Amino acid sequence: MQPISYARVNDVEAAVTLVGGDPGSAFLAGGTTKIDLMRLGVEHSDRLVDINALPLADVEELPDGTIRIGALARMNDVARTPIIKERFPAVSEALLLGASEQLRNMASMGGNLCQRTRCSYFRDGVSPCNKREPGTALVAFDAIVHAAGVSGERAIPIDDFYLPPGDTPEIEHPLAHGELITAIDLPSTPLAARSLYLKFRDRQSYEFALVSVAAALELDDGSIADARVALGGVGTKPWRASRAEQELRGAPPTEESFARAAAAELAEAQPRTYNAFKVALAERAIVRGLRQALNGFAA
Ligand SMILES: Cc1cc2nc3c(=O)[nH]c(=O)nc-3n(C[C@H](O)[C@H](O)[C@H](O)COP(=O)(O)OP(=O)(O)OC[C@H]3O[C@@H](n4cnc5c(N)ncnc54)[C@H](O)[C@@H]3O)c2cc1C
Repeated sequence: MQPISYARVNDVEAAVTLVGGDPGSAFLAGGTTKIDLMRLGVEHSDRLVDINALPLADVEELPDGTIRIGALARMNDVARTPIIKERFPAVSEALLLGASEQLRNMASMGGNLCQRTRCSYFRDGVSPCNKREPGTALVAFDAIVHAAGVSGERAIPIDDFYLPPGDTPEIEHPLAHGELITAIDLPSTPLAARSLYLKFRDRQSYEFALVSVAAALELDDGSIADARVALGGVGTKPWRASRAEQELRGAPPTEESFARAAAAELAEAQPRTYNAFKVALAERAIVRGLRQALNGFAA
């Protein structure tokens, strides 16, 4: 048995100072990932610094229309907040399709971004592994992650928050030790109000995505003025489908355009033997997501 100690903090500065000043300390929010990993022997911290008393659990609208989600807001609470349901339905749906009711009541948004890979090799505590899979809908809408550390505050675009494995696969995000996520901003984007999120998995609940897609369309005079598409479960980071979006802009909103966009996105995919099925699945997921987004206009 390895001893650990526990501390509770009431303000951001104390949290950052305690963890930042001690390589053996780690933040504890809902504990749904951290405690699991410590029990599995995959991670160890000498001290857990409980951040649940920090005033970071609100969801609020800023004067410019941005929605600011506090890092300690729980997944279920965010998903059911009226302004999230109305303005970013894909974010609400993605949250409600994650984990289970009980876990979502505990799991914080900041902890969600920092969860480690769900790869079973990583989690067995013995095998080498460098993969992981969260956050599709936030990537589709250019979310910004706010963080506070011993050297000040900074804002990180969500697409830069997840790092490709490269030569340092153990480093999954750019936060320094002791840097605390304080909030996640969703900049105002009118097309997000007609967005949706679809999750394809081996069973219908309590399961991670084989492939997920967040999609949104904006139409103008019979053609696609703008589109957002992002995929989950297909890479080491949530995947913004920029090529598909580029193909869609200016095209007519038809099945042919959707299929062409999906094919363009996946054209350079490099699957391995046992995940090659994901290429076809991702293409179909994009087409279905866009079709349903289009149907939203008729509704
Ligand atoms: C069985 C199971 C199924 C799941 N299914 C899904 C799913 O389908 N989809 C999905 O998205 N997730 C899923 N999850 C993951 C779940 O969403 C995360 O475990 C949860 O969001 C983590 O939040 P937490 O508050 O519990 O974090 P904790 O476990 O407290 O912390 C997780 C990590 O983040 C760090 N941390 C926490 N808060 C902050 C902060 N504000 N700033 C910096 N670092 C911080 C901690 O130090 C720790 O390293 C599942 C988890 C389980 C156990």
